[in-house]
Amino acid sequence: MNACPVCGGGVNLPINAVLSELLDCGECSSELEVISLEPVRFAEAPLEAEDWGE
Ligand SMILES: [Zn+2]
Repeated sequence: MNACPVCGGGVNLPINAVLSELLDCGECSSELEVISLEPVRFAEAPLEAEDWGE
């Protein structure tokens, strides 16, 4: 269990998680990006992440 950078709540990291993977915090529903695996660290994902510039 790792701490959400937004609300401090617990976030479960999937066992097969990779760098830059996006997760949702179960406590505050923020979108989080995995920025480090050892040690595990999250950052709040940018809100414009859906824009792929088509
Ligand atoms: Zn949270």
